[in-house]
Amino acid sequence: MSDIQAFRQETRDWLEQHCPLSMREPAAPGEGQCWGGRNYKFDSVDQQQWMELMGAKGWTAPDWPTEYGGGGLDKLQHKVLKEEMARINARSPLDSFGIWMIGPALLEFGSEALKQQHLPPIVRGEIRWCQGYSEPGSGSDLAGLQAKGEDRGDHFIANGQKVWTSYADKADWMFCLLRTDPEAKKQMGISLVLFDMQTPGVTPKPILLISGNSPFCETFLDDVRVEKDQVVGEVNKGWTIAKYLLTHEREMIGSMGMTSPASETLGQIAARTLGVEQGRMNNPMLRAEVAKWEIDGACFAMTAERVTDEVKSGSGVGATSAMLKYYGTELNKRRFETLLKIAGSDGVVWDGAESKGGWLPRTWLRTKGNSIEGGTSEIQLNVIAKNILGLG
Ligand SMILES: Cc1cc2nc3c(=O)[nH]c(=O)nc-3n(C[C@H](O)[C@H](O)[C@H](O)COP(=O)(O)OP(=O)(O)OC[C@H]3O[C@@H](n4cnc5c(N)ncnc54)[C@H](O)[C@@H]3O)c2cc1C
Repeated sequence: MSDIQAFRQETRDWLEQHCPLSMREPAAPGEGQCWGGRNYKFDSVDQQQWMELMGAKGWTAPDWPTEYGGGGLDKLQHKVLKEEMARINARSPLDSFGIWMIGPALLEFGSEALKQQHLPPIVRGEIRWCQGYSEPGSGSDLAGLQAKGEDRGDHFIANGQKVWTSYADKADWMFCLLRTDPEAKKQMGISLVLFDMQTPGVTPKPILLISGNSPFCETFLDDVRVEKDQVVGEVNKGWTIAKYLLTHEREMIGSMGMTSPASETLGQIAARTLGVEQGRMNNPMLRAEVAKWEIDGACFAMTAERVTDEVKSGSGVGATSAMLKYYGTELNKRRFETLLKIAGSDGVVWDGAESKGGWLPRTWLRTKGNSIEGGTSEIQLNVIAKNILGLG
């Protein structure tokens, strides 16, 4: 048996033994995601156990080095793990801004002390992170940010306002951009800093949306003490790191529309809802739309996999993340447009147990945000034009 075959067998056995049966079933719409953190309320004992077991093995961050709590898997082993999880429809054990965003930035730019402090708790799902980038006047023009960090020797005093901070009211720590040199040119005087949300002077205020949810906050910083040893990379040189982190964020957001192994495909939902006659889905118009989405989705999944392979072999995701973000989010919006058509009048039910509390129209509304968060579609098209097509 080759090494990789042996790894597959071991992985299969371990998953069979440790993945709770309920974590192999499709989650109810809008449920099933696990965010971890100090105050997280798990849906079930199984969900908590699944996160903790995978975290202890490092398989919540399978390709991170073992010295920081990760799984230490190489490219092929990581792929095998994903395939074996898909084989039993295992749910993602942990969704985390730590794993998707600040973790990769720390691995690349963080001091050894920062890596040791922050990465293992991220892997184990103990600390939930939020992102303090956007400000009322600085979204697309992120480098124009105004929240400032005043140098006080061994620490900064931070003042200012962040906005659209997803889950700031639920997060334990924030990674945050501050202007630490007001004299320097726009991009030059910015630092990426980390602080505990319990630090005096940090106030998140939830923003209520049209969907009825409050997934994000305004976050006010009033004389917040930020230790200098919590600066990622060098002081005033945070812009490069901020952009690197954004490439990971964009890659993650772009892949959000792809259904997880534990959820039904668009085709399966359509067939179940509309019925099948002689092996073909009823409603020829929608059949064509669903088929087109499935084909585009499969092409996108292959492209995303190719890019992931390229990144792992060292070429860096860079501007390609803009392409994945743009196409992936447009695809996700199309998916929900089609799901609404499939649902018919059921798709406009807003409240009540039958409609799972209006999950479908609320999530359809939420997908509109996909092409804004992490940088709008227009900004991604600018990046593609300039850095991929060489038009700028
Ligand atoms: C669901 C969601 C979650 C978010 N979570 C977070 C978070 O956790 N942390 C965080 O820091 N931020 C978060 N954001 C904020 C997000 O990053 C910003 O909304 C986004 O970068 C756009 O900035 P803005 O809202 O200021 O819009 P603006 O920058 O004011 O843009 C307004 C419009 O002008 C267009 N535009 C602007 N500049 C250009 C240009 N140069 N060329 C072409 N068109 C342009 C834009 O495309 C857009 O259509 C989130 C946003 C959403 C929707």
